[in-house]
Amino acid sequence: MRVRHRKLRLIPITVLMLALALTMAALAQGPDIPTYLIQVVPASVTQRVQIASLRLNVLLEGEGVVTAIATGEQLDHLRILGMDPRVLDYGNLQGCYYLLPADDSGAEVARECALAIYPQDTGHLLARVGPQGEELLWQRATSLKRLFGALPLLSEADSAPGSVCLSHEVVQEMVNKVSQSDLSEHVRSLQDDDSEPGWDALRSRYSFSSELDIEKQYIHQHFSGLGLQVEYDPFTLYGHGGSVEIFNVVATLPGTDAFSDQVYVICAHYDSTASRTPDWDWETDPAPGADDNATGTAAVMEAARVLSQYEFAHTIRFIAFAGEEQGLWGSQHYAEAAWQAGDDIAGVINLDMVGYNTVCDKVDFLGNPASDWLVDAIRENVDQYGIEVITEKIISASFTYSDHSSFLDYGYPAILGIEDYQPWFNSYCYDANHNYHTVTDTYSTLNMDLLEKTTELTVATIAELAHPVTVGATNTLFLPLIWPLAEPLS
Ligand SMILES: [Zn+2]
Repeated sequence: MRVRHRKLRLIPITVLMLALALTMAALAQGPDIPTYLIQVVPASVTQRVQIASLRLNVLLEGEGVVTAIATGEQLDHLRILGMDPRVLDYGNLQGCYYLLPADDSGAEVARECALAIYPQDTGHLLARVGPQGEELLWQRATSLKRLFGALPLLSEADSAPGSVCLSHEVVQEMVNKVSQSDLSEHVRSLQDDDSEPGWDALRSRYSFSSELDIEKQYIHQHFSGLGLQVEYDPFTLYGHGGSVEIFNVVATLPGTDAFSDQVYVICAHYDSTASRTPDWDWETDPAPGADDNATGTAAVMEAARVLSQYEFAHTIRFIAFAGEEQGLWGSQHYAEAAWQAGDDIAGVINLDMVGYNTVCDKVDFLGNPASDWLVDAIRENVDQYGIEVITEKIISASFTYSDHSSFLDYGYPAILGIEDYQPWFNSYCYDANHNYHTVTDTYSTLNMDLLEKTTELTVATIAELAHPVTVGATNTLFLPLIWPLAEPLS
């Protein structure tokens, strides 16, 4: 003991300092530095600005609550600023976060997959999962939203656009052009393996399946055949022990008003899953996803065919997203890039499951409070254009399970059209779609009238918002063709 003690004293002080510095550096970078999962409720605009200036890693914002990852220093700052953040967890918070429904099945799935579960007042479970739990979650959960982090803290949302004079006749003409047989063709093409005869050789559009590539091209060809500007928007999806590069398909109909940057989006996810089929093997088994979501994709493709025959003041963008079934990867990628580029997305209509209902022609429209006006706008067109469909309005910041949610995260007004906001339960005017996320979600089970009517409503609403440039309206602005010659000065 004494000997060792004496030796220690002999170590030069500079070496000790160096060792100390190296240890500190390792601690600062290493995985052991604790982070905190917190929730804080800003009580004023000033507090929002203060929270934003601290640059927390924001996972989620909804119903006035900011959920974020913070360092100890950031947490101290919040308290110094007089806020009372609630610490849900702290330590070495490995893994990533997902939201899933807090019903019985959600709770069971979370118990099975998650490293930690945090029940929320909004009817969600916030779950932290490791890589293996993440894949199990994709298989087992009815619906999911992955929390990618780094969200901006948004200021109060814009209000609805002012009303403009427009010709209902020309919009009615567009509505009348929506074709049920075109919609059927798209749904069947998306679910079907075209190399086999007939309509019963089913395809997979699971995001990790190589077959997704074929349908990506099918959508691209349709858009480009209409003369639209089309792009593949690539991103990386991680899982199943590796990663895949997959693509959103983005088509643009540029607005004619040189002074407008406004963009209206109509979108749907084209990937699918059949994970609720017992023993489903994603590498070999089909995932026809006719209702979820060949229907929405078909509506976007058909809206593109109709609307591309006209000119609009504002830009319209038609988007088919991938990676939705793993927690909204494609739309998150797109919305984040749009926000970083400063895009002025003035309204988004996302369609997801709009073709199953054996008892009614009904569609629910969901939005957050800032998108309330858009829900009203689309529902008003039922009467305006004589479309015989029942619509329900649901305003909640908490329905996060489809691609509209990614746009809401970046402050863009966005709504979801869906046959029922909880398609796995029976409810008013709706019997649950028991084919949901199984290999039996096929064309033959669909209500094509419902898909046609939902497409008509969407076409009418996007057309009105983007403001059609009609020949009649333009003519009234034309200067006389023969301009009187100036009088010679006398
Ligand atoms: Zn879906």
